[in-house]
Amino acid sequence: MDRRIKALTDFLDASHSVYHAAAYLAETLEKEGYTRLFEGEKWSLAPGGKYYLTRGGTAVMAFRIPRGEIRGFLMSASHSDRPTFKFKENGELSGTYTRLAVEKYGGMLMAPWLDRPLSLAGRVTVETDTGAESRLVDIDRDLLLIPNVAIHMNRGANDGFKWNPAVDLLPLLGGAGAGGKLEKLLEKAAGGKILGHDLYLYVRQKASVWGADREYLSSAALDDLECAWCCTQGFLAAPESESIPVLCVFDSEEVGSASVQGAASRLLEMTLCRICDALALDQRILLANSFMVSADNAHAVHPNHPEYADASNAPVVNGGVVLKFNASQRYTTDGVSAAIFRKVCAGAGVPVQTYCNRADIPGGSTLGNISLSQVSVLTADIGLPQLAMHSCYETAGVKDALYLQDAMTAYYGSALEIRGEQYFLKEFR
Ligand code: ZN
Repeated sequence: MDRRIKALTDFLDASHSVYHAAAYLAETLEKEGYTRLFEGEKWSLAPGGKYYLTRGGTAVMAFRIPRGEIRGFLMSASHSDRPTFKFKENGELSGTYTRLAVEKYGGMLMAPWLDRPLSLAGRVTVETDTGAESRLVDIDRDLLLIPNVAIHMNRGANDGFKWNPAVDLLPLLGGAGAGGKLEKLLEKAAGGKILGHDLYLYVRQKASVWGADREYLSSAALDDLECAWCCTQGFLAAPESESIPVLCVFDSEEVGSASVQGAASRLLEMTLCRICDALALDQRILLANSFMVSADNAHAVHPNHPEYADASNAPVVNGGVVLKFNASQRYTTDGVSAAIFRKVCAGAGVPVQTYCNRADIPGGSTLGNISLSQVSVLTADIGLPQLAMHSCYETAGVKDALYLQDAMTAYYGSALEIRGEQYFLKEFR
C-alpha cells in the first residue's frame, strides 16, 4: 500500500470519535515540531515559528510564520465530526436485556448501523484535586450491537421501512444482569470519578483498501476526516511562501457548526487577529489578499443510481478533486475562486472535477459559507468524490486522497495578491 494511504488509514482507524481525531491531528503537529498555544495565555510568535492550538478538544488550528514578506493568509477548513449516535445521560436501559439510550448526532443513513459490532468512544471529564480534567476514553473492543428484526417478524423490512431512532436504534449491551457494567468500564478507562461525558457510538470495522485494482478506500468518517488529513499533510509538506498558511479543522459541521468550536464560532477570526497583533501586521490588508479552501467531501455519481447526479457535473471516484458550485451560495465557489483553485491544481498536476446539485434536488450544506460569515475572504468549496455519504462506512478513491494532498501542498506553498480585478498567484517550490 502507498505510504501516504497507509498513513491516512492509520489516522482513520485511530479516530474512533471526534475527540480522538483531533488528538491525533494535534499529536501529528507536535511530532512535526509545532508549539502548542493556549487561548488563555499571551502569544509571542516569531518569524519561522510553527504553532497550533485546540479548542474544546475537537477543533484544531495550525499556522506558520514566514521569515520574509507576508501578503495574506492561505487557509483551509475541514471538519472533525461525523454523523453518529450520542450516549445519553442515565443511558442504561434495564429489562430482559440491558440496552443503551442514544440520540442522533447529525443526519445519518440509519440502516447501516444495524448488525455490526460497535463500541463507545469520546471523552469523560473526571474530578481532580484542583478541579476537573477531560480524558479520552475508548472501550476498544466489540461491546455493542443493534440487532435487526427478523424478516419473518417484519415483512415490510425491504419495502421502504421507516426507522425510529427512539425504538429501532438502541444498542444491546448485555443481558438483564449487565446493568452498571458500562459505568464500571468507563470509570476504569477514565481512571477517576466521572463528572461528565461526551461519548459516541462507532463501528468496529477498520478502513479497507479494495477493488479490482485496490482503487477504493472505505472507512467510517471519510466525510470529513479524509479532507482533514489530506489538508494537514499538504499544510505540513508545503514550502515557505509569502503567505501565512492556516489549517483549520472545525467541529459541529454535521449539526450546523454553531458551537464554541464550530465554523460559526469566532475561533478563526480570533486566531488571525492574534497572529496580526503579535506580529504588528495590518489584518485588514492581509485579509484582502487571502483565500479559503473549504474542504468537505462531495457526492460521486452512484454506480447503481446515476440519475441522482447532475448530468454535466457528476464527479467520478478517482477522477480528481471536486470544485462545488451552488447558485444560492450553499457552496461559495465563484468564477474567480474556481479559477484560482484550478490554477493551483494545474500547477500540481491534479485533475479537477465539478459538482452541482441537480436543479430539483436541494443537496447538503457545508462549512464554507458559515466560515465566511466570520472571516470574509475569497473561498472555494471543494471535496473528494465519495459514495454513501453519512453511512457509518463510506467509500472514496485512493487516487483522490493523493490528489488532494498534492493540491494542498501547492496551495499552501503559494501567495496571492489581489488588486481590483487582478489576481496575482505566486508559486514557491
Ligand atoms: Zn462533511
